[in-house]
Amino acid sequence: MYIVPEKEIGSLMDRAASFEAVEAVFAAMASKDAYNFPVIREAIGHADALYGFKSGFDRKSLALGLKSGGYWPGNEAKGLTNHQSTVILFDADTGKVKALVGGNLLTALRTAAASAVSIKHLAPKNAKVLGMIGAGHQSTFQMRAAVEQRDFEKVIGWNYHPEMLSRLADLADELGLPFEAVELDQLGAQADVIISITSAFAPSLMNAHVTGPTHIACMGTDTKGKQEVEAALVARATVFTDEIAQAISIGECQHAIADGTLAEKDITELGAVINGAHAGRTTDDEVTLFDGTGVGLQDLAVASAVVDLAVKKGVAIEVDF
Ligand code: NAD
Repeated sequence: MYIVPEKEIGSLMDRAASFEAVEAVFAAMASKDAYNFPVIREAIGHADALYGFKSGFDRKSLALGLKSGGYWPGNEAKGLTNHQSTVILFDADTGKVKALVGGNLLTALRTAAASAVSIKHLAPKNAKVLGMIGAGHQSTFQMRAAVEQRDFEKVIGWNYHPEMLSRLADLADELGLPFEAVELDQLGAQADVIISITSAFAPSLMNAHVTGPTHIACMGTDTKGKQEVEAALVARATVFTDEIAQAISIGECQHAIADGTLAEKDITELGAVINGAHAGRTTDDEVTLFDGTGVGLQDLAVASAVVDLAVKKGVAIEVDF
């Protein structure tokens, strides 16, 4: 088996390879060549930790395995990242373990790739203003991936903790784009693309804030009870997701489904747009919304790509197991 340690991932995997892997696996999910297994997530009653598994199988690429990981709130005090992930890949022909791969950076790359894939396929073609809601760890990965999809001329941002907005301003500066901190009504009115990546349990972006044709990528809601946008906005939008089962249970759609304003049949897998089975955005004034819940197959896709790259570059550690 191969081991690809966390410290090697940054020099192996890039945004282009992550984008390619995630776009391909979304397409395979929609054509039913790939499927996720039920997610396990438990509060383990130790160290305040949440721990679980996301797993699946892609019959096209033969990626089989799981991402094990969770959230340890006390880690930061120990000099460690609070979110900890490791991917284990298995040989689909024999069941033998194939690789052990550090999953922390890969999680950020695959999450940013998911919203970038949604922007490629759903955002207005002439999008010029990118609106960012959230300025935490994931936000910079999101912004870097998003700006590669359209000729953005400006970034505007809002964060619940305004003192964190310098993170977005600094990155926009590095990317050569002007940045402006705005209120949510300005963000909703001006942005052609909005990325929401917060850990909120109550909506920030309201239906009335969004006044024009916009694509919204809701990337923060990945647990029951979390919410970033008002359910009425989800109900008004043309809704796409990575996986419908997750969208209605742990994703942004859970709230509009619960209040009866959105039906499961009105949610489309993004892969159907990639495969050409759904037209995606069809009118000039449409609000499209991607509910990016984060599926195990994304992790397997990027981990498989990284193992191939590590073997090619001679940095994969080979262990007789
Ligand atoms: P972080 O802790 O670094 O940042 C949290 C962000 O949420 C900050 O911008 C903070 O100001 C904001 N926030 C906190 N409380 C808020 C509130 N009450 N209202 C509005 N905003 C609030 O977290 P991160 O690593 O950037 O992750 C952000 C979210 O993305 C988390 O919820 C995480 O679980 C989720 N996530 C999703 C996926 C996926 O695949 N969908 C993958 C990774 C992370």
